[in-house]
Amino acid sequence: MPKPDDALLEARLSAVDPVAYAASRNHLGGAVTGLSPWITHGCIPIPELIDRFGLTGHDTLAFQFGWRAFFQHVWGHLGNGILADIRPGLPGIAYANVLPADIREGRTGIPVIDRAVATLYATGTLHNHARLWLASYVVHVRKVHWRPAADWLYAHLLDGDLASNHLSWQWVAATFSSKPYLFNADNVARFAPADWHSPGTPLDTDYAALEALARSPRAVIPFGQPEKELTEPPRLTAPPAHLLGADDFTLPPPDTDATLVHPWALHPGEGPRIGVIHLPFHQRFPWSEARWAFVLPRLRAVTDRIFVGDVGQLDGHFRAEATLNPDYREALAHLGAELTPPPRWPPDPATLCPSFSRFWASAGQPPPRRRWHA
Ligand SMILES: Cc1cc2nc3c(=O)[nH]c(=O)nc-3n(C[C@H](O)[C@H](O)[C@H](O)COP(=O)(O)OP(=O)(O)OC[C@H]3O[C@@H](n4cnc5c(N)ncnc54)[C@H](O)[C@@H]3O)c2cc1C
Repeated sequence: MPKPDDALLEARLSAVDPVAYAASRNHLGGAVTGLSPWITHGCIPIPELIDRFGLTGHDTLAFQFGWRAFFQHVWGHLGNGILADIRPGLPGIAYANVLPADIREGRTGIPVIDRAVATLYATGTLHNHARLWLASYVVHVRKVHWRPAADWLYAHLLDGDLASNHLSWQWVAATFSSKPYLFNADNVARFAPADWHSPGTPLDTDYAALEALARSPRAVIPFGQPEKELTEPPRLTAPPAHLLGADDFTLPPPDTDATLVHPWALHPGEGPRIGVIHLPFHQRFPWSEARWAFVLPRLRAVTDRIFVGDVGQLDGHFRAEATLNPDYREALAHLGAELTPPPRWPPDPATLCPSFSRFWASAGQPPPRRRWHA
């Protein structure tokens, strides 16, 4: 099967500049690649990117690919354990289990937060720094448990990945790191455009005060006047009807030689191929319409047909790329599908590395030049 035409991916690839990336990636207007939706869905494997851009472990871009690989590594060892606190977080705080409406509707009155939510809904993506700021505000200022917030962000991202997303939230919350990630208005002013700046807000303070705030059980209530209220786009537990074909809900006839292609393996392959959307997963982890619109056409382009439903009902002997996504993983195991590991870079250390630096060294890479992934 030839490679599907993906002009947007080609444009993104042509624009990648590893030198400019290293110099500017922390800035919201920096030379980031925008490749994560394609990487997340397996359209382009990291080893191919390493080759294409001639990268080594000394390059900042490769180092960031390393963070993704580290999160996948932890997921491989802890499985669904990444969906709950990995270690106790800050003591004595009763985090809320619901994400407040003013955050979801972009009307906290704090420009950096409201801009981040507006950008997320409008584009399905968010710069790494904006994700860190949003997560830190939600957990440490508003005292919301990272899990409902991580589920919400996951639902709206085109690149939503349970490992990179949920483990980053835990890293910010200090349930997967030794201290909370904190930021102030000066940090926003350094890395974001003017309309994100948040002087005079509760974030306009020093790090000692922020640390005390994070460790205090008291949430800081919404502040100031929002410019406008946003409507949260729906989180859909199944593909929207306009993206589906008449036969997509029909069980395919028994097959003894087909490859099942799930949404994280959207690349071409040989032989008969059935695209699968396993609804039990999507009922637990809904996606935005924009994400369905990203995935469905690409899934269709690399398969002969699509089946939407309970993949456990299929009959036959199948092959598939292994996935750690819950429900899909169990359904493929139930079918006894022959699994091949997804391509990886760097090589995955056999035993669990509890920190990125341990992972990076165990994978044979040069010492990191800094501690943080922001
Ligand atoms: C709270 C939070 C939630 C996140 N959720 C996700 C998610 O659901 N899916 C996801 O792919 N990434 C997630 N990230 C990591 C990172 O923000 C995105 O990978 C990055 O912003 C995607 O944009 P880009 O492709 O332009 O990245 P670039 O900076 O161009 O990096 C290239 C690639 O390297 C990888 N990468 C870069 N930085 C990181 C990082 N810090 N952690 C892990 N991988 C990285 C990604 O695959 C990315 O596509 C999250 C980070 C935070 C702080």
